[in-house]
Amino acid sequence: MASQPSQDRVFLIRGMDCPECARSIEKGLFRLEGVDACNLAFTTEKLRVSGSVTETEIVGRVKELGFEAIAETSSEGPAEDRAPRGFLRYLLERRDGRLTLAGGLLILPGLIWTELLGRELFWIDILSLGALVVAGLPVAQSALRTVWKAREININVLMSVAALGAVVIGVYTEAGMVMVLFSLGEAMEGYTASRARSSIRSLMTVTPQIATQLSSVDGGPIQQIRRPVAQLGIGDRILVRPGERIPMDGLVVEGVSEVNQAPITGEGALIDKKPDDHVFAGTINGTGSLELRVSKAFDDTLLSRMIRLVEKAQEQRAPSQRFVDRFARIYTPAVVLIALLVALLPPLLLDLPFWNPSDHANGWLYRGLALLVIACPCALVLSTPVTIISAISNGARSGVLFKGGAALEELSRIRGVAFDKTGTLTQGDPSVVHVRAADCAREGDDDCEECDELVALASAVQRRSEHPLAKAMVTKSVERGVQTRYPEAARVTAMMGKGVVGSVEGRLVQVGSHKYFDESIPHLDDHCAQAGEAACQGQTPVFISSEGTYLGYVSLSDKVRESSRDALRMLRALGLKTLVMLTGDSVQTASRVAEDVGLTEYRAELLPAEKVRFVEDMERRFGSVAMVGDGINDAPALAKATVGIAVGGAAGGTDQALETADIALMSDDLRLLPFALRLSRAAMRTIQFNVGISIGIKLVFLVVLVMGLGTMWMAVLADAGTALLVTLNGMRLLRRPSLDSAALHPRS
Ligand code: ADP
Ligand code: MG
Repeated sequence: MASQPSQDRVFLIRGMDCPECARSIEKGLFRLEGVDACNLAFTTEKLRVSGSVTETEIVGRVKELGFEAIAETSSEGPAEDRAPRGFLRYLLERRDGRLTLAGGLLILPGLIWTELLGRELFWIDILSLGALVVAGLPVAQSALRTVWKAREININVLMSVAALGAVVIGVYTEAGMVMVLFSLGEAMEGYTASRARSSIRSLMTVTPQIATQLSSVDGGPIQQIRRPVAQLGIGDRILVRPGERIPMDGLVVEGVSEVNQAPITGEGALIDKKPDDHVFAGTINGTGSLELRVSKAFDDTLLSRMIRLVEKAQEQRAPSQRFVDRFARIYTPAVVLIALLVALLPPLLLDLPFWNPSDHANGWLYRGLALLVIACPCALVLSTPVTIISAISNGARSGVLFKGGAALEELSRIRGVAFDKTGTLTQGDPSVVHVRAADCAREGDDDCEECDELVALASAVQRRSEHPLAKAMVTKSVERGVQTRYPEAARVTAMMGKGVVGSVEGRLVQVGSHKYFDESIPHLDDHCAQAGEAACQGQTPVFISSEGTYLGYVSLSDKVRESSRDALRMLRALGLKTLVMLTGDSVQTASRVAEDVGLTEYRAELLPAEKVRFVEDMERRFGSVAMVGDGINDAPALAKATVGIAVGGAAGGTDQALETADIALMSDDLRLLPFALRLSRAAMRTIQFNVGISIGIKLVFLVVLVMGLGTMWMAVLADAGTALLVTLNGMRLLRRPSLDSAALHPRS
């Protein structure tokens, strides 16, 4: 066979009941030639295969294993979600389900007569055997397939052996009951899993597929054309009518309206939009009609990137899940071994009955077989993933993007939080409140020609800077009508954490912090004092020089967010004692802002590298630490912290921050942070409970069965019950946050 180039492929797998199935499929595929790696997430049903193997080979092998694979690219592709309506219907729609139902009917007489009343009757035994055959057929088929194709022993194999053993011993009703209950339990798991999947998927809002494009043909009058969003390109004009969902990311060109951004930020409040504002696909337009210029391709919108990130997050395994997987891998062989020993050792060594026809449960073969029944770690392997993806989905819907189970888990453990100041605790939208040129002609009044000149020169440099302070200074130059006095500066370089420098018409112009000027450029004493006073008010003075000569300063002010204060109070109530503000700003400014926002600790005049070092230091002292920033100049610190949290995905935060942080808050409301913390803690508590109860029930039945007290079918029932319990328990995290939801979503 000609060797194919290696490729990555994605498939949707249908028909899995429990995570064990996913593992069998992975193993079976791995045995195919040309498979370099494969990963199947039970919770999202997504299979990723890389290697030179062909699509047909993969689909064929999955089919041999008893499941269905649909290539993500194929036209029949992932159909819309089919949320099963009722359990009975779910059973009736499937061959296995119908067999289970039939088996259930056949076993009823045996259950009543033999198991409950303790009598025996020939024809009832026949019915029970019938139940065994009917309900056991799919189980046995799958058992054969996994042994054959994946060279693996899974729960289907063990169940088949146990049931056959029971027949050999002569407990026919017991054998039938075991199979019927087992397949019923599997069906129940499959049913709840698909319910969980569809409720998780429905959280991610569907954006409209059609948009109204505004275009004129050959310079004719402008027409409205209904078009699929996939056909629209960047720069196209579209119209969004009142009440419509916005189909694409774009910039408002005309019209004003208020937009509900809850599908992205989770925040119910309406946001005013006017020309030049960004709007996002999936959000809902209010009462105004908006004309937009498309700014992102349809599969690159903020919402579709969020959905991709969430899907990826759900496929990644959290550390606690890896523990469970490892445990599960040892558990099954260990129980099989114990089963063998229990069946053989007591009869051989202690001369106890191997087989006891008058009292079956007293025979040790029976006890050994019964142990096989509890060898499946099903509930255990379900306990973690369902919880994690439910929490991740809940977060996504409420405006918190967890990039994976690991981020969720780490967050639950943090002991301290470091905050960036600008754009995180404050609005990040500073404005120039004061201009002071060195040669200002009118003392105390900044409305003079010299001050205009200062603003014009500084903004020539700032036009090339990304910094929030830079934007504010450019805005000021526009207000004063001096934005075109100088061309944009050349060779503009950011001096990280200090300022920015560039060449304006051949002159070297520096714009930077007071501290930087204190160190390198002499400036007027009274300006120095005035700037210090402004800083004590919480303002940020920025100094300007040309060719090393001091020209003056401007003072900027950035408002503290009301929500930040609340957020800090809530975090403290959640037991976080160490909350620190980190900033490159001056000590005076920092202390004032810290006081305003209700923080006791701050570190000022930090360079980006020093922020990183401080975060490292906090980690040494407290263990897990979160760093919260807007990602503009905190990227290194965000990356260094145990958990990096980027704020403001839909409010001016950078694209890069969304991709690199461990957690992204989609709005700039910091109250999302206590919400995320509470969600992560609830998820971890749920996982602990789930893992505890699934292992606990196993242990109880292990002891009970070895002592010859319980019956096989009780063990199966307990198993299925636990699996159901942990799934439903995990799904509880899908629900809206209960506590403080009023504070978080004041208008919803
Ligand atoms: P923060 O920690 O608040 O994000 P930065 O590290 O970005 O602060 O900047 C620290 C200080 O350096 C600012 O307070 C400001 O004085 C100065 N600075 C940095 N970049 C600029 C710029 N582009 N224009 C003016 N001042 C700047
Ligand atoms: Mg910053």
